Amino acid sequence: MKKIPFFNYPHIFKENEAEYSRALVETCSRGAYIMQQDLRDFEENIKRMLGVKYAIGTADGTMAILAGLVAAGVGPGDEVILPSHTFVATAAAVKHSGATPVLADCKADHTIDAESVKRLLTSKTKCILPVQLNGRTTDMDAICAVAEEHGLVIVEDSCQALGSKFKGVFAGTFGMAGAFSFYPSKTLGCFGDGGAVITNDDKVADYIYKFRDHGRGADGDVTLFGFNARLDNVQAAVLNVKLKYYQAAVEKRRSLAARYEERLKDQKNVLRPPGPDSDSRHYDIFQNYEVEANDRDKLREYLSARGVSTIIQWGGKLIHQFRELRLRHDSRYAEEMSRKYLLLPMNTSLSLDDIDYIADVINDFYK
Ligand SMILES: *Cc1c(COP(=O)(O)O)cnc(C)c1O
Repeated sequence: MKKIPFFNYPHIFKENEAEYSRALVETCSRGAYIMQQDLRDFEENIKRMLGVKYAIGTADGTMAILAGLVAAGVGPGDEVILPSHTFVATAAAVKHSGATPVLADCKADHTIDAESVKRLLTSKTKCILPVQLNGRTTDMDAICAVAEEHGLVIVEDSCQALGSKFKGVFAGTFGMAGAFSFYPSKTLGCFGDGGAVITNDDKVADYIYKFRDHGRGADGDVTLFGFNARLDNVQAAVLNVKLKYYQAAVEKRRSLAARYEERLKDQKNVLRPPGPDSDSRHYDIFQNYEVEANDRDKLREYLSARGVSTIIQWGGKLIHQFRELRLRHDSRYAEEMSRKYLLLPMNTSLSLDDIDYIADVINDFYK
């Protein structure tokens, strides 16, 4: 029997221990902790990678979303439409901007449904906040069409989608701002919390630079109330190392996803995410491998008893299912899905043999 943990936290350090150690010792020896060269280098690296004018490191992904929203002019009295199948942090960022989160349904690929967005529009709708979930950029033609027709701003929660593309355009670059997270289990994970916002807009960028650093500009003058929401320089140094191997890591994930697809394609009890080569418009980076499984909870136990751990994202609840938050929603597909959705192991420590083992256990379960 194999033992396959859902995520292997020590692995993200061990996979390149020597280079990380060197970067940490070097950075700390310089005493370079806050807003130093490694952060500037990292921001430059992200700018170049995504072809954008600005990349601004932040303390975490949640702060990146909040900064993007506020800088894009979202605030009290506004409604922001986001999917109900996302981390509660997406909705929390909206709430903390002063606006009201409104929750849209998802489609079979588990990303936001533009038809549902249309049903939720009111005179207060100001912004669409699509979540590029599980490493897939949603059909942004559909989202941008709604935004254009109704004069709405787009801010992207691309926390799970660094390097993912729709029709050759990177996640995070479709609207006024895009947010990324470098939480350890994310595709580009650091050794703690981290995030970034990208934008092509000079004013939005200027606002975010200040927002993350107590409202201070380069000259020290304070022109707005900000936060302490900077990306640590030491984490930036770690991320600069990790970025060198990022494309290879994404390719590994795509090959693991292709193997799941190959081994599970005849399994009628498991709806799989679109395969890596199934639609030329999408370039997915497989932050997660999220299926819909019949008899999900029994399947989970069966997998667990055979050494395979799985996770139900967000603890198994859509945001509107946290009743105390009292959020307006439209979630027909998501409701159905919420009884079936399951994350199978997906990370760079896995081998194709591991995937074969997991798929065999799943196929055995349904026999
Ligand atoms: C991880 C994540 C966030 C929040 O990122 P943090 O860095 O943990 O604050 C927001 N939205 C989604 C979809 C995420 O996966």
